[in-house]
Amino acid sequence: MSEYGKVYILGVGPGDYKLITLKAAECIKKADVIVYDRLVSTKILSFAKEDAELIYAGKLPDLHTVPQEGINEILVKKALEGKVVARVKGGDPFVFGRGGEEAEALSEHGISFEIIPGVTSAIAVPAYAGIPVTHRDYCSSLHIITGHEKPGKAESFIDFELLAKLEGTLVFLMGIKNIAEICSNLIRFGKKGTTPAAVIENGTTVSQRVVSGTLKDIAQKVGEAGIKSPAVTVIGGVAELRDKLQWFSKGSLFGKKVIVTRTREQAGKLVDAIEQLGGEAIEFPTIKVQPPQEYLQFDKILRNLYAFRWIVFTSVHGVKVFFMRMKEIKVDIRRLWGIRLCAVGEATAKELEALGLEVFYRPEAFTSSELLKGLLDYVRPGEKVLLARADMASEELSEGLTKNNIAFEELTVYSTSLETSDRQGILERLEENEIDFITFTSASTVKNFVSILGAENLDKLSGAKLVCIGPVTMEAAEKLGLNVSAMADIYTIEGIVDKLVQITRGG
Ligand code: SAH
Repeated sequence: MSEYGKVYILGVGPGDYKLITLKAAECIKKADVIVYDRLVSTKILSFAKEDAELIYAGKLPDLHTVPQEGINEILVKKALEGKVVARVKGGDPFVFGRGGEEAEALSEHGISFEIIPGVTSAIAVPAYAGIPVTHRDYCSSLHIITGHEKPGKAESFIDFELLAKLEGTLVFLMGIKNIAEICSNLIRFGKKGTTPAAVIENGTTVSQRVVSGTLKDIAQKVGEAGIKSPAVTVIGGVAELRDKLQWFSKGSLFGKKVIVTRTREQAGKLVDAIEQLGGEAIEFPTIKVQPPQEYLQFDKILRNLYAFRWIVFTSVHGVKVFFMRMKEIKVDIRRLWGIRLCAVGEATAKELEALGLEVFYRPEAFTSSELLKGLLDYVRPGEKVLLARADMASEELSEGLTKNNIAFEELTVYSTSLETSDRQGILERLEENEIDFITFTSASTVKNFVSILGAENLDKLSGAKLVCIGPVTMEAAEKLGLNVSAMADIYTIEGIVDKLVQITRGG
């Protein structure tokens, strides 16, 4: 590390966290200190190193948490300590982001810095509402204006007479409190009251709301809809294109807030699918996957694989751990010769196939009872079965095998425990009826969810719809007194997503 640190003044886009640039994401990942603003999503902060120091420098509209000079001082101080500092801002750091002032302070202290531009709300927020800020048929310029006068400046800081004459698109940031004044001033100086206008609140996020109208009536409509900051106001012919071009709000899960209870490692696919359809996926992992307590039995079994005719894998993670351990202790994969593999679930089968292994049998329904039925059909007398599963696996399978005199051995490939998640945050959102769906992908996610929340809080779930992946999960939920709304038709992640869409459409 150099004697002095470095400061990256960067923008992360207006809301949708995927609008961050690769460069900004890289900097956040490597920063020792992160100084962030109010409009920066927690998802983006989760990119930070585990031991990074997070400093909130957010300014609420009426309440300045840390004054600008204070922020400048923090940046200078941390850089002088030799730290890599990411100064994280919403949108673009140089568009009403005070990035310029901060860069000046750093330059005065001889501290090296870099600017990483971001996707600005002035352009991206209208785009998510279906409004192109320029269009050849409508305008030939774009003007970005602050609607929030710099405190202490005289009333005439913005020249409305000049603005009213412009043919180009006018985009006001920070102006929602003054919208009535802005519009009346523009009309007073000659802008037509019929000019199309739109206001977009929380643009690019699941909470995006849009109010359309004209210069004459938009302020009143905004008042009626109760639109608050952050919001962008677009004034100009292009605003009418929204009728034709709106797209984001058409996502089939648009506006829906969905809790995902899978492990952090496994949540990705479901989270992506929800986000792609315009919903918000709230990760609340209930299960933490841990390596087995000890490998004594594990290694013994791996070295004696020839004793088995069948191996049953019930999860992707189980497959991963099994083969990783084989590699670690140098058990050749050819030792699997002659062994028939069973996989519960499509993803589990794919994981085996990716290793070049053929899956002999996969039950049609991904349940223990279905698996047992299949095994009873296939396994011949004298053949031994290895069940490679988690420690909390259901007893149904082992009991069934015992009853039918099939020799088997249990191998605990991983153990699971309760994950420590943001319980308080979730409880608050549930209480405020902010959650539309809670998804469960296994019996253990249900059990752990209830343990983490506490039985006394279960009545808070009443505003949300509970959706389970399959019958075993659903049964577990109902046993715990939960009111399940629906079960996926196909017992897969895709099946859950389809079900969420179907319920949202009112099907
Ligand atoms: N540097 C930022 C702007 C900071 S000023 C950028 O380039 O986007 C803050 C203003 O940006 C807010 O008052 C609002 O007008 C606008 N804004 C930021 N994010 C927004 C969002 N998701 N939806 C609507 N407006 C947003």
